[in-house]
Amino acid sequence: MEKLVAYSSDQAHSSVERAGLIGGVKLKAIPSDGNFAMRASALQEALERDKAAGLIPFFMVATLGTTTCCSFDNLLEVGPICNKEDIWLHVDAAYAGSAFICPEFRHLLNGVEFADSFNFNPHKWLLVNFDCSAMWVKKRTDLTGAFRLDPTYLKHSHQDSGLITDYRHWQIPLGRRFRSLKMWFVFRMYGVKGLQAYIRKHVQLSHEFESLVRQDPRFEICVEVILGLVCFRLKGSNKVNEALLQRINSAKKIHLVPCHLRDKFILRFAICSRTVESAHVQRAWEHIKELAADVLRAERE
Ligand SMILES: *Cc1c(COP(=O)(O)O)cnc(C)c1O
Repeated sequence: MEKLVAYSSDQAHSSVERAGLIGGVKLKAIPSDGNFAMRASALQEALERDKAAGLIPFFMVATLGTTTCCSFDNLLEVGPICNKEDIWLHVDAAYAGSAFICPEFRHLLNGVEFADSFNFNPHKWLLVNFDCSAMWVKKRTDLTGAFRLDPTYLKHSHQDSGLITDYRHWQIPLGRRFRSLKMWFVFRMYGVKGLQAYIRKHVQLSHEFESLVRQDPRFEICVEVILGLVCFRLKGSNKVNEALLQRINSAKKIHLVPCHLRDKFILRFAICSRTVESAHVQRAWEHIKELAADVLRAERE
């Protein structure tokens, strides 16, 4: 147990770190590259070092669409390494997974064939109410083999085994909520085309916000905009950006959640609402520009 070591990139969600705590295993953060993506060379380096130290690499979480900046780990590079080293590869696509309903975003999934498990959260960006996290495993017997126990008081349902998928062997609790019903209703209501249109609209609006930011020389875009998240900041100190965020959030017209990328304080503009329109994005940008002017004026005084 103390020799087992798991990996994720330094941009992985805090839940990955928590999984390491719950599992009682070491979790190491692989430094991401200039685009905040995990690459083969950094992973390879960590594996060599840890194996030489007598550790046993066994688990890796690659993120498609990181929480901080919606970057994508390079699955085509790290996937084959995990397969070769017999490391379980889990793909966390909590947010970005919903976008794969659109064929034009599916290239972001390239390399998923190397994964042993894959998760995304329809409650984040697919109009399904909280909570709903969907997980796939490549080989179900990996789970049922680990969890299967057959006490006498649960024998009654055995006549069905093999005919139905019995999720009590897949997980820690025996029972589970019937979440697929609410997904079914969403699928019926919107249809594939409706859901695709919803995702496309959000991505288009984030690009619209991106181009507004790019037209203003006081601001910079910090990371390539791929889906519905725009990472931007005032060119200048963290302090001035923290002051801007504080003004934006205390005005309570829009709400931004910031992040740090390396040592930089970043503002994150996320398109989230079901009813968002271009006019809202335009108004939000006007509002941000006004507050930015106030912040910059206050700074000069
Ligand atoms: C949001 C997010 C999570 C956690 O999702 P929950 O719904 O809070 O469990 C995990 N990973 C990534 C990349 C996320 O963006």
